Order: sequence, then structure tokens, then C-alpha cells
Amino acid sequence: MTDYAGLLKQGTAGLEKAGVEDIELNARELLGKALGINCRSRDFDAALNRQIDPQVQREFENLCKRRTEGEPLQYLVGEWEFYGLTFKVGEGVLIPRQDTETVVDTVLKKAPKDRKLTVADLCTGSGCIAMALEKHLDCRQLIGVELSDKALGFLQHNIKLNDSKMQVLKGDITLKQTAQQLPVCDVITANPPYLTRRDMEELQKEVTFEPRSALYGGDDGLDFYRHIVINFKDRIKPGGFFAFEIGAGMEEDVMTILVRHGFENVRASKDACGIFRCVTGYKK
Ligand code: GLN
Repeated sequence: MTDYAGLLKQGTAGLEKAGVEDIELNARELLGKALGINCRSRDFDAALNRQIDPQVQREFENLCKRRTEGEPLQYLVGEWEFYGLTFKVGEGVLIPRQDTETVVDTVLKKAPKDRKLTVADLCTGSGCIAMALEKHLDCRQLIGVELSDKALGFLQHNIKLNDSKMQVLKGDITLKQTAQQLPVCDVITANPPYLTRRDMEELQKEVTFEPRSALYGGDDGLDFYRHIVINFKDRIKPGGFFAFEIGAGMEEDVMTILVRHGFENVRASKDACGIFRCVTGYKK
């Protein structure tokens, strides 16, 4: 084995042995990281028949080892794509997931296109929902609310990376005073922590590396929806709406919370797997 193609093959075999899913993708991403070349670029394919640099080999083998120990691929690579944008990620911030693109799609379908909008994204984390919306909507003001200092570090980096104009509000969304610092919005989005106590006991190994504070939504997973609707319902204009990401099977409960607080036209939309993933409700 003298070239990177051989090293890639060896790495792929190692990942397979350890039971990692999507071994080819994982191995290419990790080799790209070790080489400092995006594995989806032509340069990567061109590099495959180059002579191996021992330092790159050590780095690649170390990344593969960490991957077999369960560290998420996205953290090892250090950035991930969401809605065509790139986000820096790492320990301390939730990894952008494809499911979450459903929230963006739903908001883009429902949001008025004939005027400038004021938008807030709660529990914004990496900022992926907010910045994806910013790319496709005419935002007068876009605010991301986040509590975790670690997540805020990634968020600031992502704002620069994506040349975003979003503003950041550090705050706890379970407190009314955080809501009072927001302007009245056309749209408020959130992908809050929503895993139940049971879910937390059965986490996939990779997910245990992600911040518990971004995952756990209380016994029934619904704590944050209750807090958000109660605290932020006055921060939505009449005719404006909430759009929440939800966990599988939560649509009835989350819709009920919105209906109880007087929201209208409450609906759930499905993700690419056919699971209800986003709940929306309009302010009267
Ligand atoms: N979708 C994440 C998961 O299934 C959970 C994220 C969240 O709680 N908002 O691991």
C-alpha cells in the first residue's frame, strides 16, 4: 500500500469491522479531513494516487479509531452541510440533521414573500435553521436565541462563515424575560430538546457525544414546547406563526399545546421518511 487509494480501502475495512454505517462515506470524509481536502472535490480524487505522507496516515488512522469508538463523523470532520450551507460543528453543539430541513421547507412554503420579515429561531445552536431561512427569505431582522456558551461559540463562527446578518440573543427560553427581549415576529422557529426520559436511556452511541442540554426535553419530551408557547406567544404578530421540529409521534401532543393556547390552522408536516417532523400554528 503506497497510495491514498490503498489507505482509504484499509480505513474502510476497519470501519466495516467495527460495525460503522456508511463506511465508504465515513472513510472518504475522514481521509479528506486528514488530507485537508474536501472529499467531494476533484482534488480529492486526484490525491488518491499520490504517495502517502506518514503524518497524514497517522492522522487518518487516529480519526478512524475515534470513529469506531462512536465519535460522530460530523464532529471529527468539524463541519457539516445543511440546506446547502456549511456549518462548523463540534462537541457542545447539536449536529445539523437532514430531518431539520423539513422545518426550513415548511417555513419557506408558508412565509409571506411580499414583505420583509422579522424572524426568531429559538434554541438556535449552530444557527442552521436561521441561516437557511435567511438565504431564502427577505428578513428585516433575524434573531437566534441560545443559552449554551459552547453552542454560542460555534454560532458566532457560523455567522461569519455564512456571511449572515443574524443577531444573537443569549438567553434561557424557559424564562419570560428572554421572550420580552425579542421584537414581535412574523415567524418563530425552534428545534428544541425533545427526547423523552426513555429516549435518553436508549441513545445511539454517536448521539451520546452531543450535548444533553440540546436533547433532553423532560419526561415526556414536551417541556420546551410548553415553555416556548407560553413565553413566546405574545412575540408573534397576528397572522404570524410558530414552526417547531418535533420527535416521531409527538404531533398530536404538540398540536394540542398550540390549540390550547389559541393558535389556529395548526398542522403537522412530514419529513423525507414520511414521519411528522414539523408542527406549525398561526396566531389569531
Ligand atoms: N433529532 C435529534 C435526535 O433524534 C434530537 C434533537 C432534539 O431533541 N431537538 O437525536
